[in-house]
Amino acid sequence: MNWMSKHFTFVIIPEGNQSVRRYRLNRMMLVLTVSCILLLAICSALFIYLFWDRSDRIQKLEIQLTATEADYEQQLQSKRTHITALQGNVLQLTQQAQSIERQMSEIKQLESQLKEIAGIKEPAVRISSSAYNAETSGQGGEEVPVPVPAAASDAGDAVAAKTMDSYSDIQANMEELGPSLKSTISALLKHQHTMRITPTIWPADSRKMTSQFGYRRDPISGRSSLHNGLDIGGRRGDPVYATADGTVTLSERSYPHGNNILIDHGKGIETRYLHLNARNVEVGDQVVKGQQIGELGNTGRSTGPHLHYEVIVNGSHVNPLPYIQDASKDVSEGEDEHVQN
Ligand SMILES: [Zn+2]
Repeated sequence: MNWMSKHFTFVIIPEGNQSVRRYRLNRMMLVLTVSCILLLAICSALFIYLFWDRSDRIQKLEIQLTATEADYEQQLQSKRTHITALQGNVLQLTQQAQSIERQMSEIKQLESQLKEIAGIKEPAVRISSSAYNAETSGQGGEEVPVPVPAAASDAGDAVAAKTMDSYSDIQANMEELGPSLKSTISALLKHQHTMRITPTIWPADSRKMTSQFGYRRDPISGRSSLHNGLDIGGRRGDPVYATADGTVTLSERSYPHGNNILIDHGKGIETRYLHLNARNVEVGDQVVKGQQIGELGNTGRSTGPHLHYEVIVNGSHVNPLPYIQDASKDVSEGEDEHVQN
């Protein structure tokens, strides 16, 4: 008899008076039934596991996504704050640039004044700044709109572009200003040197001119003659000053000049001081403008204490008066009494 054809009988005995139930199955049916039940159980377990696993992963991803969103939001907020701060900085830079432009305009105007003082004829340097143009045309300062963070992009770009333009102007002006200032300083130094070697001050404290440069009647001989200097009356012993920087080329006592000093100032200019009471410098001494070189006196061919002062240009005597600053002011004409050569 085949093994598979053997039969099993299941008996169900209910309680009470109900009849007993019998179920008869062969082995094949039994194996199939058990196999189906096991397969169903395995599939159910697998489905439950996969469902639980997926749910867990989804939950983790959702948590991660939420954290990432919060992080991005925080970074975005930080960037916005940073952009707002940068826009504030750009605005501040723009205002600084405009301030610098105004200051540079003032410097250039000062430089123009310096050039005028130094006698430089060249035209004023071009000033290209918008601030200067606004000033010279009588307008007010330029207004820069404060960028609104919410509309950051356009306003920020406009402010940044304006700032770049301003700094470009400043750079261009700085490039012009450097050489121009050097040129002005050089001219001023030259002017200063020229002033140092030009006899522009009074040689004595007194302003009393007792005889001017030019033809006159000689106070001693009575004949008409050329008076080649300026006579300044004063007291014996009054200080006599070098009227410009120079080198002493003569310091002697002779007749008719008495004690006299000659100073070479360079560029063909010399000054001479006659009838001195005393001489404080020797030949070869370097003297500076305003330095006392002797005392006013009455030595040589002289009728009284006075200084005979000469200015010699390229070997020719010239009138000293135009060289003396403000010479036409506070000059009192004196009597022609102390005079002479
Ligand atoms: Zn004289």
